[in-house]
This record gives sequence, structure tokens and C-alpha cells, in this order.
Amino acid sequence: MKTLTYSKNIFLPVTDLCRNRCGYCSFRKELKDAHLITRTEAMHLLEEGALHGCSEALFTMGEAPWTISGFESLLTKANVADLLDYLIELCEMALEFGLLPHSNAGLLEPEDLRRLQPYNASMGLMLETTAILGAHAKSPGKRPDLRLQYIARAGRLRIPFTTGILVGIGESMQDREEAISKIAHLHRAFGHIQEVIIQPLDPKPGTALENAPRPETIDLCKTVKMAREILPLEVAIQVPPNLVDPLPLITAGADDLGGISTVTVDGINPDCPWPDEVELHRRLSDYSLRERLPVYPRFIAMGWHGQRTRSQVDFLAGEDGLRAKKYIS
Ligand code: SF4
Repeated sequence: MKTLTYSKNIFLPVTDLCRNRCGYCSFRKELKDAHLITRTEAMHLLEEGALHGCSEALFTMGEAPWTISGFESLLTKANVADLLDYLIELCEMALEFGLLPHSNAGLLEPEDLRRLQPYNASMGLMLETTAILGAHAKSPGKRPDLRLQYIARAGRLRIPFTTGILVGIGESMQDREEAISKIAHLHRAFGHIQEVIIQPLDPKPGTALENAPRPETIDLCKTVKMAREILPLEVAIQVPPNLVDPLPLITAGADDLGGISTVTVDGINPDCPWPDEVELHRRLSDYSLRERLPVYPRFIAMGWHGQRTRSQVDFLAGEDGLRAKKYIS
């Protein structure tokens, strides 16, 4: 029986201020409306996550908000001196609540990536595409070469890494193939890619791509099948079950459902609710559906997860490196 995995997470939006302006994004806010999560808000979410048996604290934020004039006012309001120091403080807070941090903080300086590593079970950055697209015309951080360099840097640091492509933003099937091939190449060089997300666009009102067609299931299946043929078998292919019916995509080769939550919405696609965990098990009863941690078993075995996450990983993982059954709520 094929094994499928997922993790139980909470989504913590550290800040929605971002230097990029992607043509499909409704997460980013202008400075006047932007928010930096407070310690009280983070603590409340982490407490809820712990109560609901989650194992992953997904920290995400807009890219390089410190490059935006006026950003300091956000820090001052939340009584924060430095954003990276604060993210580390939040990661430590997550670990105190028994949750394993997974940070996706956009492109970071090498030194900042190195500073975050010990506090994270794994980290991530979507490649999205290697094509030059109109959707990224106002997003300097979405230059494919920069993102590929960053993923390589994470590989050199031996950070278990999540990346992926965004489907339906104007790219062709050939572009998708090129992006997946480049990810496969980086994995062959460094061995650090744990999963590749095939993420369909959810067109949002008020964005440049609001009228873009939603990717069709058949197109997503072809993409998953192509990715499975290109990527080494140890790299999981993840599909988000709140954006697409996972069943046909599993048949096409997907084997992971990513993070789902009973506590927080998908902050990037807030109108797409997570499926109920019990319902998911019922619908996928032909498969062995197992809960995993935000770090995959082989990276636990190799000791690649952050130094400060080790005792909590040891506590949560079973002998096979997936989440021990006795801790499922
Ligand atoms: S998708 Fe991410 S990088 Fe692009 S504008 Fe939104 S928050 Fe910024």
C-alpha cells in the first residue's frame, strides 16, 4: 500500500510587508496596513497549536521588508529591535511549546540563513518558476537565478529544504519542466531537497491575475507525472489538498499533502479551507496516510535538522522517523 504523508501545522505570518509585488498575491500589504506579529499573538497561536496536537510552526513573511522605507516603525510598534533576532526568538518560543519551526523567510543573506538554521527543523523557499514572467515584473526577489542560488546555499549548509513551483502564472509546461529539472540538479548536488510542491494558482480578486484560469486537474496531473519522472524518488511530491482534489494527483505520482491545520487558515490562500483530517483519512483509505514531522525521516537519520530542534524531534518521531502514533491527538 502506497504511503502518503502530511504534517499538522500552524501558520504564523511574521509580517506581511514585502519588497515584491507578485501579480497573484493577496498576502502582501502596504506599509500603512502592514502588521508584525506580536509576541502575545504568536504565543496564543503556538498554545493553540500545541493543544491541537500540531508539530510544525510554519513561519512565513514577506521578502526583505527591511528594505522598505518606514519599516522601523513596524518594529517599534511591536517592541522589536531586529527582525532576524525576532524570528529566532519566535522559533525558540515555538520549541518551548513543543512545535518544530519551519521558516520560509524569503531570500536571506548567507549569514542570516546560517543564524536561523539551528532553530529550524527544515526551511523552505518556493522557486516558483525559472521563466521570466509578467507576474514577477515588479518582484526583484523572484529572479530565478537568485532563488536557485539561495536553494544551493541552503544545500551547502545541509538544511533539509522544501521548494516547489507555482502552476498557472503564465508559464508553459516546458517552463515547469525546466524548473523541476533545476531543482533535481540542485538535489543531486547537495541532497537536501525533501519535497517539491506543485502548487496551483488560486486567482485572487484585486490582483493582476484575478482573471487567470485556475489550472485544470488534468494539467496538474501531467505536471505531477513529469515531476515524478524527473525528480529522484527520495524527493516527495507535495500537492495541497485545500487547493485541489489530491486523489487524481496521487495517482499521477504525488505522495505528500503538506501541512494542514485545524488551528489556522492557509495564510496565502485564506479562502481555501483545509480538509478535515478524519475526512482526509476516509477519502484516502486506499493508502497508508501517515503524519510526519516538518523534517523528513532520512534527514533526521542524518542529523541535518537544526541543533536546537533535536530533543523535540527525538520526542515526536517514531522509530521510522514519522510522527509516533501515540502523540496523534
Ligand atoms: S507572493 Fe510572497 S514574495 Fe510575492 S508579493 Fe506576496 S509575499 Fe511578497
